[in-house]
Amino acid sequence: MLIDFHMHVFPDHLSQKALEKLSKTAGGIPYYTNGTVSDTAAKMKEWNVDYGVFMNIATSPKQQASINSWASAVQKEYGNIFCFGSVHPDAEDCVDELYRIKELGLKGVKLHPDYQNFFVDDERVYPIYDTLSRLQLPILFHAGYDAVSPTMIHGPSKGIARVAEMFPRLTIIAAHMGGLNRYDDTEEYLAGQSNVYLDTSMSASYCKPEQFKRIIKKHGADKILFATDCPWNRPADELSLIDSIGLGDTERNQILYANAAKLLGIE
Ligand SMILES: [Zn+2]
Repeated sequence: MLIDFHMHVFPDHLSQKALEKLSKTAGGIPYYTNGTVSDTAAKMKEWNVDYGVFMNIATSPKQQASINSWASAVQKEYGNIFCFGSVHPDAEDCVDELYRIKELGLKGVKLHPDYQNFFVDDERVYPIYDTLSRLQLPILFHAGYDAVSPTMIHGPSKGIARVAEMFPRLTIIAAHMGGLNRYDDTEEYLAGQSNVYLDTSMSASYCKPEQFKRIIKKHGADKILFATDCPWNRPADELSLIDSIGLGDTERNQILYANAAKLLGIE
């Protein structure tokens, strides 16, 4: 069984433009779906992904409500797709929207500090963390480098570790093994933090196998989530990295399925 905990889709009329723009920002990187829900669902079948968790990002305060309504509709349409909602920290009603996200049955919230222009440990976002703790909804952060803000990292491992310590009841998922292309920082600041999961997305492209293994051993395989960041990577790429580092069957199953199933409540 395989759960991909970090995937991206777009409404049909936006998908082509969105993928072209995002790819260009990242220096022309390839993409492996056409960005629509239907194509992504078809690719999941082809790639033997049993469940997918789709991440959404409100890149402006005005977008948050419509994005969450759309995500809820997607989740209702497919039995094997779960969605995270999003809020924008600059929206006056961002805390209220978290309650709506819970009511809609979305599985968590994604924030992207670079696209939403805030630092993860900025006090103005604490009400979001506090509310999510009480609603028992996990938060997924983009972590580490992003081409949209190449000289300023808004979600560094150190900042995420600070949030994890300040909000011990908050379940945090730090994407890209705790910091895209900043894995030394993950090892130093974040690995071992008990209320933090790390997702594996994009590791096949950026993380050396020895370091990938060290991070998993230090953090614990019970807090690692298989993920691709689809359409930007394919499951086979991430799986070959995971299978190259000599994990035991139990650890492999935790990473590929069991940890995610627990977070999603589908055990
Ligand atoms: Zn993402």
